[in-house]
Amino acid sequence: MRIELSGPDISEAEKQAVVAVLSSGRLSLGPKVEEFERAVASYVGAKHAIACSSGTCGLHLLIRAIGVQPGDEVVTTPFSFVASSNCVLFEKGKPVFVDIEPDTWNIDPKAMGAAITSKTKALLPVDAFGQVAKMNEVLDLARKHKLRVIEDSCEALGSTYNGKRAGSLADAGVFGFYPNKQITTGEGGMITTNDDQIAAMCRSMRNQGRDTMSWLAHDRLGYNYRLSDINCAIGVVQMQRIEEILGKRNRVADWYKQRLGGESRVSFQRVIPECKLSWFVFVVKLADSYSEENRNTVIQRLRDAGIGCSNYFAPIHLQKFYREDLGYKQGQFPVCERVAARTIALPFHCHLTESQVDEVCATLKKLL
Ligand SMILES: *Cc1c(COP(=O)(O)O)cnc(C)c1O
Repeated sequence: MRIELSGPDISEAEKQAVVAVLSSGRLSLGPKVEEFERAVASYVGAKHAIACSSGTCGLHLLIRAIGVQPGDEVVTTPFSFVASSNCVLFEKGKPVFVDIEPDTWNIDPKAMGAAITSKTKALLPVDAFGQVAKMNEVLDLARKHKLRVIEDSCEALGSTYNGKRAGSLADAGVFGFYPNKQITTGEGGMITTNDDQIAAMCRSMRNQGRDTMSWLAHDRLGYNYRLSDINCAIGVVQMQRIEEILGKRNRVADWYKQRLGGESRVSFQRVIPECKLSWFVFVVKLADSYSEENRNTVIQRLRDAGIGCSNYFAPIHLQKFYREDLGYKQGQFPVCERVAARTIALPFHCHLTESQVDEVCATLKKLL
């Protein structure tokens, strides 16, 4: 692609930090892990942060830490990245999908309330495209029904809800650091929580179930979900640069809004007043008069023109194995399906220039 869909913002400082770790000889379980964890915990406003090897691993550790057992239900959204419900399947729990709101594209708290049964163990809202879910409503439901809440904030580092950062609102939150996220460590993730017990469980399970310093004492079933000091060194510098990075992303979003804001054939995700968005992707939704096939043609033609773009998100419940093995069907979540059939993620990263945004928008309008 001439204009990439996404890409990391890596400066000279990250490169030097990696070389310094390589020279130090401490490539894992060294000081950079804790430094990165402290940086994220203090930025997010959470008591604990636990680095792990991906956002998906972080979700899995949390599902185990809150004790999801086979058959337990976890209420979540189908308009997300597949990992946010796969983590429930890892433990043979049941992801119970409920529909989204037509304007915010986040989980509908009313539908969430209606889906709670005696088997429900937890609620798992996702901060879709960086917008924090309606957490006041979600937390009210959790209190009323005595449920745990895991916030999938993998796309929302830096977003706030009533002034509090995503990842600090629920029992625990998770961030991902794949190169398309706000900050990257190549691969990586981070759990944030104020709950001492959840933190201790995640720390232990991340490191093969160890509780003590003894390398060969394993107190519980664990995994190797550690993140290396090489990755964490990148993360430390990315966190030092986070205001600069989010500022650049905000500027790119403004360029798009200026050019597409008055365009009646597309609309944007409505951002609720409680939320201040940290921009993750720039997604437009085509008007309902366009079919899914029309949308797919637009994506193909944009790519033909060298412009990276994607059908972001594809509904989770319509993925092949969710349909074939778990019995989900087309038509079950009509709002999600209607939105997902019409969304297009446009190129969005720190290195985009205003003239590239001009070209993307002009090409999109011509295709529409
Ligand atoms: C990226 C992402 C994840 C998973 O992150 P990885 O680090 O790729 O495992 C989970 N949920 C959502 C919503 C994401 O966007």
